[in-house]
Amino acid sequence: MTMIGSLYEDTAPAAPETAALMGAHEAEFVIIGAGFTGLSAAIHAAKRSVKTVVIEANGIGHGGSGRNHGHCVPVYGFINPNKAIETLGRERGERLTRILADSGKRVFSLIREYDMDCEAAPTGALQLAHSPKTVPALQRQHDFYASLGTEPKMLNRDEAVAITGSEEFHGGWIHTGGGHLNPLAYARGLARAAMREGAEVFTDSPVVKLERKGGAWLVTCPHGTVLARRVGLATGAYTDNFLPPLGKSFFTMRSYAIASTPLDIDLRRTILPDNHNFGDTRHDVRYVRFDKQNRLIMGGLVEPIIGTNFKATTDFISRRVREMYPQIKTIDWRWHWSGQLDITMDRTPRLYNPAEGLYALVGYSGRGVPTATALGEVLGEAGTGVAPEDLPMPIAEMRSLNAASLLSVFVPMLRGPINRMRTRIESKVA
Ligand SMILES: Cc1cc2nc3c(=O)[nH]c(=O)nc-3n(C[C@H](O)[C@H](O)[C@H](O)COP(=O)(O)OP(=O)(O)OC[C@H]3O[C@@H](n4cnc5c(N)ncnc54)[C@H](O)[C@@H]3O)c2cc1C
Repeated sequence: MTMIGSLYEDTAPAAPETAALMGAHEAEFVIIGAGFTGLSAAIHAAKRSVKTVVIEANGIGHGGSGRNHGHCVPVYGFINPNKAIETLGRERGERLTRILADSGKRVFSLIREYDMDCEAAPTGALQLAHSPKTVPALQRQHDFYASLGTEPKMLNRDEAVAITGSEEFHGGWIHTGGGHLNPLAYARGLARAAMREGAEVFTDSPVVKLERKGGAWLVTCPHGTVLARRVGLATGAYTDNFLPPLGKSFFTMRSYAIASTPLDIDLRRTILPDNHNFGDTRHDVRYVRFDKQNRLIMGGLVEPIIGTNFKATTDFISRRVREMYPQIKTIDWRWHWSGQLDITMDRTPRLYNPAEGLYALVGYSGRGVPTATALGEVLGEAGTGVAPEDLPMPIAEMRSLNAASLLSVFVPMLRGPINRMRTRIESKVA
């Protein structure tokens, strides 16, 4: 039997009870979008006694937050401590670097603080070398994170083989602040935490209009309104058209995931025995982890066929699984789902402040579990009334990325085959 749909819908604890926005409300801070960004912002602001309202068009975690692979991998190409200080000054620049470097730990500390039931596995996230040639790049990555004080651990080939149970890997490193979780359960846990701190969360309420009214903002949904001093847009890749050009300030790509039925326990013990999650140095990386019931969850970026057609996708991933784990003879894939990513050209998230009291935070470029949680708190700070020039993130100019539509079509079409070819060539050269 093949079930097309999200595994998490079947395994996450129920969402807290919420209703649609009805009638006229007032708040100090209204957040649009109940994903990691919006909910983390809501916890931060509500905890500081700011009257906070979250409005979500669908259900909690409907966007990337409830659909992702669940890898908490706090490794970013865009952390640059010197540039952060140059742009923001020493105090704010150092804060930004610290926020990002500690973002994985922040996820798991929030989970502990609010006792969230979300299969949290703070095991550390593995970055693995698929070829001897890519070990030096991982060593450099490791050294960089060590210089930030995150206590990473380098793995030689024997250690990489032991920790993964696969002969395919030639070394790697563990980001000790990372790990994995059930993302829909985490989003629902964040919503419960925000409500516990006093935030109100409304669902099934698409915001259709945002307008200035007196010194405040009027947010309009089909059956209700909220008048608030400050607004935080946290609509990610699901941004529609009510605040142009926000939805065109990035391009979109789809990412997919598939999940199997639980593996036999003896077989499972031979694979990732300490329950780590990993990505590797292949250009067409597939992310790998297990859930609590020993279901294998893998995925990557959608291509014209892989990621969209169930049979082609599961055949392709099964081949990859057998390369890594020849002991898996058959695998029964049951779930298949996908979601949108908001990608900026330099893969750096953007905080916009296009008008007084109005903020938007988008562009996680596929690294939202730790990043959206951590930077969501910066949006939350803005919601408490901290001035833009005092926030630990630069305010970017919100403008349309001219090629957004073209990139959204052509990058997904071309990047998979090109990246597989690059990986094959590099493996041969090695
Ligand atoms: C398949 C997939 C796999 C991924 N894997 C990983 C991973 O393993 N690790 C990782 O770190 N990141 C991963 N990501 C990225 C990560 O999920 C996102 O970066 C992150 O969830 C973004 O969170 P967000 O809160 O900014 O946006 P979202 O979670 O997308 O939330 C935006 C919300 O805004 C709502 N909204 C939009 N318009 C309106 C409106 N008009 N009115 C009201 N509400 C509105 C949407 O319904 C949505 O719920 C993955 C993403 C996908 C899709």
